[in-house]
Amino acid sequence: MSTYVLGIDIGGTRIKLGVVDTDTGTVIGTVQPIDTPRDTEEHFYQAVVDQVDKHLASCQLKRSDLAGMGVSIGSYCYADGSIDGMSSFVPFMVEGYPLLPRLEQALGLKGAIDNDARLIGMAETHYGAGVGYDRTLTITLGTGVGIGICVDGKPMGEEAFFHLSGHVKVRTGGEFPNSLDREPCYCGMKGCFEGTCSGTSLEIYLKEVFGPEMTNKRFFELAKEGDSKAKAHLDWYLEMVAAALNQYVYLYCPDVIILGGGVSKGLAPWLEDLKSRLVGQVHHLQKTELVISQLMEDSGVLGAASLFAALA
Ligand SMILES: [Zn+2]
Repeated sequence: MSTYVLGIDIGGTRIKLGVVDTDTGTVIGTVQPIDTPRDTEEHFYQAVVDQVDKHLASCQLKRSDLAGMGVSIGSYCYADGSIDGMSSFVPFMVEGYPLLPRLEQALGLKGAIDNDARLIGMAETHYGAGVGYDRTLTITLGTGVGIGICVDGKPMGEEAFFHLSGHVKVRTGGEFPNSLDREPCYCGMKGCFEGTCSGTSLEIYLKEVFGPEMTNKRFFELAKEGDSKAKAHLDWYLEMVAAALNQYVYLYCPDVIILGGGVSKGLAPWLEDLKSRLVGQVHHLQKTELVISQLMEDSGVLGAASLFAALA
């Protein structure tokens, strides 16, 4: 008998939802995206309920077939199911907004909620590159840097205390007065990991060095083709990433670090190089593996569903 859990991944522009067989990590049917209604609460919940029912019908399931739901959002999530107002993208979701209780009421399901980066870590831990490891650290190099740490199959900490640890310092912060360092990162510092190595930051840096046409994708292609200028800047980028990874080894002692997000695809050919720079070791038997994520689009939905299953 399969266990079906609804996964809801709430973003500022889109909500993705799907039913997951949490025993196997299989998404039932196709994950359904809708535009995030941002105007009123009434529209928001009506759109979610309508889409859930439509999706369940397409999977020939009913709400009563679901064990519960998991919810992912780019906010700090408090233990009572409310969220902070700092990083949510929907205007009415202000500080202390009781998102999970409201969704439970609207859908008639019990649920669990956590920060999106932590839940991508859950997806990797249960269904991706982290399977078989006790302590996993998943780093999503995208618009920002998302951090998800799991211990024994659950996010570390009841609340998302560590989800902003993408802001460890990797350089002094005064190296690029005309580009990366014009303004401090929103964490308050210049030279943090996110402010240097996120997809957004890398592109700012590359446009400064190569001109406005340069993209992250083209940069990694050039490096792979052997372009000496691209390789020199790639070497700098790998050094910055490694500076963060080595700190994470000492902070969290992960068995494996999983690199995900758009930039990780460009890093894949340089994985062995990056591994050689991962010199941190907590004790002589400890070793931190480094791998690239294999999960793609549905990891938010998978991670959300796996949270509910892990806490049930
Ligand atoms: Zn920062």
